[in-house]
Amino acid sequence: MYIALSGEMPLPAQTKKQKKPTTHLRRKPPQAHRTTSPVIRCVIFDLDDTLYDCLRQRVPVAHRHAAQAMVEAGLNADAEAVYRARMRAFRRDPMLRYIDAEVTRHFGAENPEAISNAAREAYFNCSVGELKLFPESLPLLRFLAKRGVRNFIVSFGEPRIQRAKVKSLGLDREPSIEKIYYADRGNVLTKEAAFRKIRRKTRLKSEEILVVGDRPAREIRAGRELGMHTVRLLHGEFKAQKPMGLEEEADYVIRNIADVRELPWIWGAPQK
Ligand SMILES: [Mg+2]
Repeated sequence: MYIALSGEMPLPAQTKKQKKPTTHLRRKPPQAHRTTSPVIRCVIFDLDDTLYDCLRQRVPVAHRHAAQAMVEAGLNADAEAVYRARMRAFRRDPMLRYIDAEVTRHFGAENPEAISNAAREAYFNCSVGELKLFPESLPLLRFLAKRGVRNFIVSFGEPRIQRAKVKSLGLDREPSIEKIYYADRGNVLTKEAAFRKIRRKTRLKSEEILVVGDRPAREIRAGRELGMHTVRLLHGEFKAQKPMGLEEEADYVIRNIADVRELPWIWGAPQK
């Protein structure tokens, strides 16, 4: 089975055009973890589809790469046609469970297994290339850092690829970010464990920490479980994913990363 290019399992595809960023939507009043202090001293950002557009910058490139590999492995078709078939399959099943079977069958491959292996290999090892942050990401990080808010990134996926993304985005040399953690698919470090580490490192209380991400089942759930504030960016591969219960409901849902600063918290008031 494939994983999403973000390193995480995708959910139903987004076929609608993205709406223009709008102001945040207020969700239900947060639960018990929302306590007295409205002061945020630390923000933990997810990477893919939170600080940059992973869906648009990575997914098509990787499928193109896989399509080319399928042709080179002997699939009797034009690489462009294979790419289009892959994207159709991706839209039908973003989990990519049947993509190779479907595409090899469609083109009548004689050795589907070898071709599927080549596709998988190419898909996973597609080089990161040049990536760009959302235009609002750096201004937000710097806005927060200027006010003494400690910014962290916790990225999930294949650490080698995630590190390459961070480098391509210039985040490895961005002074407004204190540290980047790489949670991995092998669960050597889970997101929740990374959040705990940050809490320990900063010696802050959960209610002084905000988690910003796009996935209800990952960072939103992990943040909530630890009693941190949560904001969901409604964007990307997981935009259609519905929270599975209250524990995956973010305190706020926004459509543009810049909207974070408009949320009703005090940013980085002096520590006691
Ligand atoms: Mg993400």
